[in-house]
Formats: sequence, C-alpha cells, structure tokens
Amino acid sequence: MQKPTTISTKPIRSLEDALERCQTLGMRVSRQRKFILELLWQAKEHLSARDIYDRLNQQGKDIGHTSVYQNLEALSSQGIIECIERCDGRLYGNISDSHSHVNCLDTNQILDVHIELPEDLIRQVEEKIGVKITDYSINFYGYRAQEQQPENGG
Ligand SMILES: [Zn+2]
Repeated sequence: MQKPTTISTKPIRSLEDALERCQTLGMRVSRQRKFILELLWQAKEHLSARDIYDRLNQQGKDIGHTSVYQNLEALSSQGIIECIERCDGRLYGNISDSHSHVNCLDTNQILDVHIELPEDLIRQVEEKIGVKITDYSINFYGYRAQEQQPENGG
C-alpha cells in the first residue's frame, strides 16, 4: 500500500523531467545545457567535469570547457543533477533525488541504489540523536563480486 505523500516538486526520473524542471525554474535550456543533461542520462554514471567535456567532444558536440563547468554548476545548484564532493574533485550524476551509493573500492566506481531503511531503524536514530529524520543517503563500500575460479594451475 502506498502512503499518501504531498510532494510539491515531483522527482526527476527522466531526461524529459530534467528539461521540464529547467523550464519550470525559468532556466534557459541552451543547446549546451541539453548536451550535458543528455549525456548524464545516457551514461548513468558519476562523471567529473573533465569526463563530461571529453565525452561530449568525442561525440563531436561543440562545447567549451567553461561552458561545461558553468552549466554543471547551474544544474547542480538548482537540484536538477547530483553533485558529489570527493577528495579528488566533484562528480556529477543524473539522479537528483535522495539515493544511496555503493562505492566500489577496486574499480573506483560509484553505483546508485535506492534503498529504504526499516522504520524502526530510523526511529532508533531519531531517539539516539534527537533529530526528526526526513531524508537519508547511505554510503556502502565494497568490492565487486568476482567470479570464483578455482586455480589449479601448475
Ligand atoms: Zn548518485
């Protein structure tokens, strides 16, 4: 059963939603801005500004460095795309509503995952800290499951 929720802004679930949100917010949807959103929704990865610039240029898209940086800044500050701060720089992703991450320690990838914590666990946190929890995002760390291959070489 679905709980009735009142959300003023619906989550962005597609490239079309993202473009629509830009318009709702009165942001101009320039060609360059559209290139970036298209790329993020195609890739569904967490990419640095550098990666985004490189990929767009590989696709033959006419976009400069500065434009990439400025558009990423504008889109993330409006909550249309995700921005993760890491020690080695910022990464951008297509999912802007709250979600959790699985950090692969061997491949250095960050994978998106939507998980819901059990209610009683959230209550426990609230009781412990004395704060009403309205949202959460969890970082998981691990290694990509590798195929077990018995090595009998010799
Ligand atoms: Zn993410």
